[in-house]
Amino acid sequence: MAPTTIGKPPSEPPRLPEWLGGLLCRLGVHQNHVIDASFGFAPGETIERVQCRRCGTVTTRRGRR
Ligand SMILES: [Zn+2]
Repeated sequence: MAPTTIGKPPSEPPRLPEWLGGLLCRLGVHQNHVIDASFGFAPGETIERVQCRRCGTVTTRRGRR
């Protein structure tokens, strides 16, 4: 009788440890995602509000298309 191999349960996606995430935020490396985008004052200018997923810091950045 052939031994049946039981597959490993699917492993969770790799996540940064909390202390490492905090360290990166202290260094200014945030995990930003865009929460709001609007047009700037100048034509062709966009203003994006980004928030860090880890520490929640909201920053505004200006871009041009
Ligand atoms: Zn952060």
